[in-house]
Amino acid sequence: MAEGVGALWKALGPKEDDVRQGIASAPGPERVAHDGPLLRLEGVGVTYLGPVPVPALQGVDLVVGRGEYLAIVGPSGSGKSTLLNILGLLDRPTAGRYAFGGEDTALMPESARTRVRSTQIGFVFQSFHLMPHRTASQNVAMPLIYRGVRRRDRRRIAREQLAMVGLADRAEALPMTMSGGERQRVAIARALASGPSLLLCDEPTGNLDSTTAAGILATIDSLNRSGLTVVMITHDMDVAAHADRTVVIRDGRLSTQV
Ligand code: ADP
Ligand code: MG
Repeated sequence: MAEGVGALWKALGPKEDDVRQGIASAPGPERVAHDGPLLRLEGVGVTYLGPVPVPALQGVDLVVGRGEYLAIVGPSGSGKSTLLNILGLLDRPTAGRYAFGGEDTALMPESARTRVRSTQIGFVFQSFHLMPHRTASQNVAMPLIYRGVRRRDRRRIAREQLAMVGLADRAEALPMTMSGGERQRVAIARALASGPSLLLCDEPTGNLDSTTAAGILATIDSLNRSGLTVVMITHDMDVAAHADRTVVIRDGRLSTQV
C-alpha cells in the first residue's frame, strides 16, 4: 500500500525540519559534520544465536556527547565487550538503532562502516594487541597503510603520536623489549594515528600495576581534555572515577544506578 510505504519513509527518512535547516545527512564521505551527540543508541539488543540463544544486551538506550568521557562498569559476563563491539562497529545489533555522528549505522554499507571504524574510532584493549615483530613506530603506522597514507607521512605521524605519549625515544623498540605500560602507550598512539573522534577502551589498565595504570589513565584524561570523546569499559570503580559519567551494565541492561 502506498500509504504504508509513505509512513515507513516518514519514519526512516530525514525529518522535514532537519531538511529545512540543512542538517539532514547527505550520503558519502563529504557529508557535513552533524552537531548532535556523537553516539546514540535506542533500544539496542544483541542476542547470540546458538542451541540456546544468549540475550547479551537488551534495550540499551545511551547518548554520548562529543568530548564526553563515559565509563561503562559491570561485572564479568554482563555484556561489556558485546557493547564495545557494537559501539566500535565490529558487530551489528540484532535489535534497536545505533547512530554514529547522526548516521544510522544499520543503513551504512560494510565499506562505510569500515571507513568510520578506521578513521573515526580508536581502540585500546587490555592485552595491547601489538604485532611482536614490528617496531613501536611500525605498529603505530600500520593502520595508516590501509588508509593509503604515504610511507614518509606514516613515519612522521607515528613519531608524532609516539612523542605525544612520551615514547619519542622508543620508536624503534620491539614490543617484547618494552614494559607493559610502554606497550599500552604504543597501543594508544596507534589508536590516535588516524585522528579519531572516539577512543574506545576495554579494560586498558587490566594488565598493568597500579602505578603504571595511573600513568595510562592520566594520558587518557589529557586526551579527553583536548577534546577526544572517550568511552571506557571497566569493572574497576577507581578507573571509572576518571570519567565525567558512569553507567552500569548488569545482565545486558544499562542503568545509571552505580
Ligand atoms: P563481558 O565483556 O562483560 O565479560 P561479554 O559481552 O563478553 O561480557 O558477554 C556477555 C554474555 O554474552 C555472556 O553471557 C557471554 O557468555 C555471552 N557471549 C559473548 N560472546 C558470545 C558469543 N560470540 N556467542 C555466544 N555467547 C556469547
Ligand atoms: Mg569483556
